[in-house]
Amino acid sequence: MKWCIEHPGPYTPSEEIELRKEAMAVLVESVKAGDITSLDGAESPLSERIRAQHGVTDFEMNSNWVGSSQDWICPCCGRSKFQVSRVGKKGQILAKLVIHHDHMGEAMKAAFHSAFEAAGTRVEQIDGGRLVERMGDAFAAYAEVLVCEDCNNADSEAKKLARSPSYFSFSIGQIRRLIRSADHRPHLVEPARAEKVWAEAEPAYKLRMKLISAVARAAATDAHWYEPHARAADPIPVFGLTRRSFESEIARWAYADPLLRTLGVITKVSAPNLSRWRQVAQKPGKQLPANYLAMLRTEESHGRSWEALPEGWCCPVCRRSKNELVYVGGQGKVIFAMRLVTARRLGVTDAHLQPLRIDAHELEVGGGSMRR
Ligand SMILES: [Zn+2]
Ligand SMILES: [Zn+2]
Repeated sequence: MKWCIEHPGPYTPSEEIELRKEAMAVLVESVKAGDITSLDGAESPLSERIRAQHGVTDFEMNSNWVGSSQDWICPCCGRSKFQVSRVGKKGQILAKLVIHHDHMGEAMKAAFHSAFEAAGTRVEQIDGGRLVERMGDAFAAYAEVLVCEDCNNADSEAKKLARSPSYFSFSIGQIRRLIRSADHRPHLVEPARAEKVWAEAEPAYKLRMKLISAVARAAATDAHWYEPHARAADPIPVFGLTRRSFESEIARWAYADPLLRTLGVITKVSAPNLSRWRQVAQKPGKQLPANYLAMLRTEESHGRSWEALPEGWCCPVCRRSKNELVYVGGQGKVIFAMRLVTARRLGVTDAHLQPLRIDAHELEVGGGSMRR
C-alpha cells in the first residue's frame, strides 16, 4: 500500500509496463512477509505453517487458493485453509478451492436447443437465447460459491451414491448434512444420508426441470417474456474474479493471471498428452437440425460471421465450405465460430499480412482451453 501511495502517476504506457514489474516484486514480497494476507501464495506465512504441519515442501496450489485470503473459511464444512490442507497421493500438499455451481444453466440451454430443433422454428430467436442465458441462474438452487475441493468432491460422490441425475447438484447446506468432516483429510460421505437428502430434494428438482422445459419451449418459439434479476454480492472472493475495494489499487498495477502465477499457482499433475489429436479418432459430428440456420443466427456473433462471408467462401486453411463448418456443439447448440487471424499467426511469412478469417477450431488443436 505504501508503494501505491509513492506511485500516484499518471504514467506513460511504457513507464507503466516497467512499474508493473516493480509492483509485482513488491506484492510478492508483501505476501511473503505477511503484510498482505488477503492474497496467498506458496511462500505465504500460512503456507509455511502448512509445510511445517505436514513435513512436506511441494504444493499443488490452484489460483482460487492463491487469490483468496489466508483467513478464508469454507462456507460449507467450516474449515480454515490450514484445516483443509492435506497431503495428496503424489506426496504433494493439496491446496485447492473450487467454485461450486448448480447445473441448471446447462439444463436450460440443452432444453432450449432441443425445443428449438423439435419446434422447427424458422427464424432466429435472439431474445429467446438471451432469456435462456439469464434464466439459467433463476432456476439455480443456489448462487455460485467458493468451497474447498473436498466439499466439491463430496457432492460428486454423494450424487453417485444417491444415483441422482446429472443436472442435479447438492447445495452447500445439503453437502454439510451428508459429510463427516475432519482436519487434513477428505470428507466421508454417508451413503444413507446421501439418499435421504436426495429424496428430499427430488420433488423440487423435478418441478424445476418441468418449468425449464416449458420456458425453453417458450424461448425457442417466440412465446416468451424478459425477466431481469439482481446478482448476489461477492459470493466468489477471488482476486481477479471480483474487485474488493482495496484491490482496485492492486488491480491497477498487476493483472490477476500473472500475479497469481507468480505467487505460486501450481496446477501440473501430469504432462498433457500433446499427441492425443493424432491418436484418438474424431467422433462423427451430430446431424444438423433442418432449421440449423435459425439456431445458428440465435447466437448473434455466429450469425454476423455467417452473413459476412459470401456463399462460395471456404476456409483458407482447410478449404471447407461454410456449410461444412457448421456443427452441433455441447448442449445441442448449433455452432459456426470464425476467427480473424493475421498471416503471421499462421506462420505465413510472405508479403500478404492481410487479416484472414478462418474457422476457430483450427487454432485450438492441441491447445485446449483451461478454466481456473
Ligand atoms: Zn469445505
Ligand atoms: Zn479451416
